[in-house]
Amino acid sequence: MKEIWEKAQAMIKERVGEHFHEMWFRPVELAQVKDGSAVLEIPNRFFKEWVEDNYPGLLTDVLKEATGEALRIKYRMSEKPDSESKKIDSQLETRKTRLASRGIFLNPKYIFGNFVEGESNRFAKAAAEAVAGNPGRSYNPLFVYGGVGLGKTHLISAIGNAVADRIKNFHLLYVSSEQFTNEVVHAVRHGKTDELKAKYRNLDMLLIDDIQFVENKAATQEELFHTLNSLYEGQKQIVISSDRPPKEIKNLTDRLRSRFSMGLIADIQPPEYETKVAIIHKKAEMERISLPAEVVEFLARRIKSNIRELEGCLIRLAAHSSLTGTPIDLAMAKNVLRDVTIEEDNKPLTVDVIIKAVAEHFGIKVADMKARKRTRDIAMPRQVAMYLARELTEASLSEIGKAVGGKDHATVIYACRQMADKRANDENFSGMLESLINRLKP
Ligand code: ADP
Ligand code: MG
Repeated sequence: MKEIWEKAQAMIKERVGEHFHEMWFRPVELAQVKDGSAVLEIPNRFFKEWVEDNYPGLLTDVLKEATGEALRIKYRMSEKPDSESKKIDSQLETRKTRLASRGIFLNPKYIFGNFVEGESNRFAKAAAEAVAGNPGRSYNPLFVYGGVGLGKTHLISAIGNAVADRIKNFHLLYVSSEQFTNEVVHAVRHGKTDELKAKYRNLDMLLIDDIQFVENKAATQEELFHTLNSLYEGQKQIVISSDRPPKEIKNLTDRLRSRFSMGLIADIQPPEYETKVAIIHKKAEMERISLPAEVVEFLARRIKSNIRELEGCLIRLAAHSSLTGTPIDLAMAKNVLRDVTIEEDNKPLTVDVIIKAVAEHFGIKVADMKARKRTRDIAMPRQVAMYLARELTEASLSEIGKAVGGKDHATVIYACRQMADKRANDENFSGMLESLINRLKP
């Protein structure tokens, strides 16, 4: 068993990378393999949550590779979940199984009720609700596009969940375009295209996620076109998601592109600050995590737009808090999330910011850097500032010259040449420049 788990762990590390492996998978142990199940021992419910949300199917896959057997994953938590968590978990499981028995594989959490509305997604959400309320008759196809982690899968799944709950004999299918591609390839290879047609053309609703993957795939596009036509003519609903609008998908046949565009195209934009705050509140409430307001603000500022990342940070705080038995506060959040990339509001770097950093580095006054005087110990820092300004900002030669004591543009050019030369030939100097640059551009 130890061997199996070591093998599995090595595969996990390869797929998720050192960092996530260390944080989320190293603390997991394989406790038992019996009767077609693998029992995994994990610290608390937040580990399960994170792993399942971010890498669904990963543990099943690696255990299958390590044992040659398709095992069912069961979790055992070192920290017992409270009764409320157990209740919610089992409700979700029940719903998932019930839908699966109808051949519908949707994440039960992706419903409209859990989708926070904001300026950035209002239009797409309204369109999705209209489609869910009247499939095949309002917008067909509905094409939703937006960046990574902004809620496309959630929103199109919500359409499926809503309709599946309301109409019992409704045939709906959710697939990623990769899955669709694999099915087409498989059907062609094994002469089973009739079965494929029967499967896809008798649906009441088709939800295709991440359509951008059909780029460059001629056979898949061909099959997709006929599938969509057949559904459309039968007034069956088509919902498509993509990371970009139809016109930006490359190597797409014209007729497929125009089919994509015949209904309604709705975009999801990166969330505004208020929406991020609302999403954090919603998620914390769902997971029963208590969060001080200042931590909510910290998270909303720290994570620029990717909502999956926002949720990941929240779960990470909860996991940490639960493991250490300490409540979440700002100091802890800053500490736990210190390695999360700071996504400041990409303020462009200015010449003055550079001058200030250089002055600090050399222990001289900003005023001296900017003054007209020509002392020796200021000359070099000034040249460094001019060079960095040239490299790191869009400022013109004369703007740079003006900022460092009214030099003309020839002086700036000369300084830049000198510094570039020194950087190429003097290791200490180039190391110093690197560290300054790192400080200026984190
Ligand atoms: P995409 O498919 O665009 O990459 P997802 O639909 O997978 O993004 O969303 C990433 C995560 O963010 C999911 O857990 C989803 O529930 C959550 N999410 C995205 N948008 C919202 C929203 N408006 N309200 C609540 N949760 C959201
Ligand atoms: Mg998605």
